[in-house]
Amino acid sequence: MKAITVIESNKAVGQKVVVRGWVHTVRDMGKITFVDLRDQTGLLQVVISGDMEAPRLGVEYVVEIEGEVRKRGERFINHKLATGEVEIGATSVKVLSESAELPFEIKNDTIGINEELRLKHRYLDLRSERMAKNLRLRHSVIKFIRDYLDAEGFIEVETPMLNKGTPEGAREFLVPSRLHAEEFYVLPQSPQQFKQLLMVGGIGKYFQIARSFRDEDQRGDRQPEFTQLDMEMSFVGQEEVLALNEAMLVELIAKVTPEKHITSTPFPRLTYAEAMEKYGTDKPDLRKDKADPNELAICWVVDFPMFEKNKTTGKIDAAHHPFTAPKVEDLDKLESDPLNVRADSYDLVINGFELSSGSVRIHEPELQQRVFKALGMKDSEIEAKFGHMIEAFKFGAPPHAGMAPGIDRLIMVLANEPNIREVMAFPKTGDARDPLTGAPARVADSALDEAHIKTVPTKKPKVKPI
Ligand code: ASP
Repeated sequence: MKAITVIESNKAVGQKVVVRGWVHTVRDMGKITFVDLRDQTGLLQVVISGDMEAPRLGVEYVVEIEGEVRKRGERFINHKLATGEVEIGATSVKVLSESAELPFEIKNDTIGINEELRLKHRYLDLRSERMAKNLRLRHSVIKFIRDYLDAEGFIEVETPMLNKGTPEGAREFLVPSRLHAEEFYVLPQSPQQFKQLLMVGGIGKYFQIARSFRDEDQRGDRQPEFTQLDMEMSFVGQEEVLALNEAMLVELIAKVTPEKHITSTPFPRLTYAEAMEKYGTDKPDLRKDKADPNELAICWVVDFPMFEKNKTTGKIDAAHHPFTAPKVEDLDKLESDPLNVRADSYDLVINGFELSSGSVRIHEPELQQRVFKALGMKDSEIEAKFGHMIEAFKFGAPPHAGMAPGIDRLIMVLANEPNIREVMAFPKTGDARDPLTGAPARVADSALDEAHIKTVPTKKPKVKPI
């Protein structure tokens, strides 16, 4: 007998088939039992007649049904269901696996359920229609991007997870080295240095669906690990990066979420100074009708300040990261008036969210050295932290530029979700815990010994709400 998915039942009228899935609902009417069977493709009505030998069925049991697909009578057509014109008359029902009572209902939208509970049983939450739809949308977006960039001549390259620091402005996760006592790797905040080194390596057009890690304090919608569409191109400037990303985004939205409309194309372009003056923010929300769930107002904000004063230390920090090129016309102010130097950098803003930053990069070793110095770094520190970048730039580095749109955020906006956790399969809580597996967790003393680590007991912070 042919095994089919639920959605394939539409094309199998008159055939004897096997379908497998979960019992979404079960209605025992005495003479007859109706089961809505669910698999990854949808719901299908199964009719079990009372005179048939059938096991007891409960909600979320996993079952295998044999039977014949038949057309429903005119009166019984369910227009809300993709398989609403057909049903299966069961000839055999087998329980493959039973289900305990669910900790929460998954038949309805789970958005209102306590999130800690949803995350503890994420595998159940993922069975709900909205969550499954969000993961499918995520897949479609990423597939579109991969295909689009491949056709544009990009190649996807994986960069290391075990790294030396990348200065993107956030704290880094440390990974102790067992083989090199007292030394640590850090997890990448972004593949920034490696993508630039790939340009020095002659790759030309690189992208990566890149997992990135930032050990930040609980702040709204941040996640300790998130996904960026990291990209870099050689022999281009700002114009080419913006043009490529704009064209890709317009096509992606038309193809993957055709119900959406973009307020204005080409995307408006504002300088940082204009945005601050006109809207008082560098992430203006330019929607015409904020009540329209399908409106997407996308704009570019360009020419950010190169540096900013750190409010705590009073020192000068890179506003984006120190590999960003200063604007040529501001180069003479690099030492004398750094806070008035503008950068060749750009942000992509969508409905008031910063979707991406990017910049033209420095590719001359001397200029890179000057920028590190402007940041107050001594020669020895520059050498220790970034000597490898300066050295690489001495061997024929092409001019290059790139950016890194946040994939989670893009999908969040396209799915009209209120936060990025709704579009990630297994997100952490706001305070970076995984209620499902219990991470982070203590490890055995022997594992600490091997990693040459001694822990200092501290009071365990109270579990904070999500
Ligand atoms: N690496 C940067 C970031 O993560 C993006 C870029 O400059 O391409 O923000």
